[in-house]
Amino acid sequence: MSTPAPPVPPSPEPAPPGADREVEPFLRITEVFHSIQGESTWSGMPCTFIRITGCPLRCTWCDTTYSFHGGERRTLDSLVEEAEAIGTRLVEVTGGEPLAHPNAFVLVERLLDRGFTVLIETSGAVDVSPRDPRCHLIMDLKCPGSGEVEKNLWSNLDHLTAHDEVKFVVADRTDYEWMRDVIRERGLDRRVADGTLRALLVSPVHDAVDLEALAGWILGDRLPVRFQLQLHKFIWDADRKGV
Ligand code: SF4
Repeated sequence: MSTPAPPVPPSPEPAPPGADREVEPFLRITEVFHSIQGESTWSGMPCTFIRITGCPLRCTWCDTTYSFHGGERRTLDSLVEEAEAIGTRLVEVTGGEPLAHPNAFVLVERLLDRGFTVLIETSGAVDVSPRDPRCHLIMDLKCPGSGEVEKNLWSNLDHLTAHDEVKFVVADRTDYEWMRDVIRERGLDRRVADGTLRALLVSPVHDAVDLEALAGWILGDRLPVRFQLQLHKFIWDADRKGV
């Protein structure tokens, strides 16, 4: 008796047209603009800003609440091309919280591959370890006055390099003392001294802090920090977007 032939498996469903095409990665973008870098050791430099929409935090003094929602869906390639068209070789990827979106890391890598110097402004609440080591982080540590101090991801400090800066936005004396204690207890002052951290930045909440008093506290404590004002808020109207 002959063995019956095994049943022929049904042929697979044909793939819908275009299903084999790779989906081009995208980000939701609030704005792309060309301005003067207003904070950090890069302050004063012409810079292209790419502001990614969305943030999981809600700092009490946030000045970019308009970036929480909305935005336009943009491919990463179109953002790189726009930066090329603007022409300035310094680009800052900001938000919102840019690193809440995994494609932000890809965008940074693409910009670096095209020869841009890339800054990332980040809240300090999201893991920075996947960052490309060629970029420069400007990472906040949220003081109590922000209402978001519990969100600080302290393990991020282990991933900062000589490229990177830590920023404290200070709303009052309580914030200042918190910052001073963090700098000393976590050895950030030593890291600036030995060059394993680029800078510590102190940024007063705009129009909320007695600047002379803050300067006096810093000098009195001999803190190795850089006192900075948000330069763009002095050049343009403090509430203006896109600068
Ligand atoms: S992390 Fe930045 S964007 Fe988000 S709420 Fe705080 S200040 Fe605003």
